[in-house]
Amino acid sequence: MARMHRDAEDPDERKRPRGQKAYWAKVDQIAGHFSEIMKVLGLPLDHPHLKETPDRVGRMYLEIFRGLEEKSAPVFTTFPNEEKYSNMVIVKDIGFFSVCAHHMIPFFGKAHVAYIPDQRIVGLSKIPRVVDFYARRPQLQERLTEQIIDLLVEKLAPQGAIVVMEARHLCMEMRGVEKPGAYTTTSAIRGCFEDQVVRKEFLDLLMKDSKDR
Ligand SMILES: [Zn+2]
Repeated sequence: MARMHRDAEDPDERKRPRGQKAYWAKVDQIAGHFSEIMKVLGLPLDHPHLKETPDRVGRMYLEIFRGLEEKSAPVFTTFPNEEKYSNMVIVKDIGFFSVCAHHMIPFFGKAHVAYIPDQRIVGLSKIPRVVDFYARRPQLQERLTEQIIDLLVEKLAPQGAIVVMEARHLCMEMRGVEKPGAYTTTSAIRGCFEDQVVRKEFLDLLMKDSKDR
């Protein structure tokens, strides 16, 4: 394999901790393929700034696509709703970064998540972690939105839930239609949020908060 000779002289090799064989095997595999792409593009692989790039890309892919590993799924502990809280719980402006599955370049923006509890509630810090977990894989914004709400519904069985995501897609801005700054909005609705009155309350709270800032 072409990679083996490169690894032998790779200064990072010495820093590689033991006991992560599977991880480094994946890094090497991605790096091997990525250096082929660089060759096709005519990039000098021995240039000081490019020499380590295939390895960096390998490590970066495993980082930004961490959500492909089921073991990195966040623990989603729920609690009994002892206070019988039945108002809307909103977590807004959850920043996220994902990668478009069609073009493998980023899309990023904000997620707004709300639910109305029934028997179970969840610690609010868990919701951004769920967004992050599903965002860290090649995605479609529509699918990402659905995966987040499906998990909430599965774990909480709420009276209702809503997820709204606003994102900029670099595949639409740097290439293709080249529309810098355009936002794509997706939403997913379950249960009582189908009701227009409930949905309006959510949107009003969202708007009000962004005006206050
Ligand atoms: Zn795309």
